[in-house]
Amino acid sequence: MALQIIESCVNCYACEPLCPSKAIFMSSKAGHFRINPNKCTECEGDYQDTQCASICPIEGAILDANGIAVNPPGSLTGIPPERMAEVMAELQAH
Ligand code: SF4
Ligand code: SF4
Repeated sequence: MALQIIESCVNCYACEPLCPSKAIFMSSKAGHFRINPNKCTECEGDYQDTQCASICPIEGAILDANGIAVNPPGSLTGIPPERMAEVMAELQAH
């Protein structure tokens, strides 16, 4: 089982040094950090929480083995996704 970093990663470098399995690498091909699925242990045996997802500041950038965001929209900002959509719509209207 492995987590996955997707293209919304902003290359902040926060996760890479925390990985106990050295599974996180900068992919020049993808243009962002990625997780080697053969190395990721989901931190089992090392930590209670997945270290990469617990430090990542970008909601939705890290997916679990089922493709579901570990930090879904609103989980870090505290702003409900519906409210965020309203605000974005208001901003675009001006
Ligand atoms: S879940 Fe743990 S082992 Fe897997 S990439 Fe993230 S920090 Fe590394
Ligand atoms: S912490 Fe998140 S945004 Fe930062 S490099 Fe890792 S995956 Fe990308």
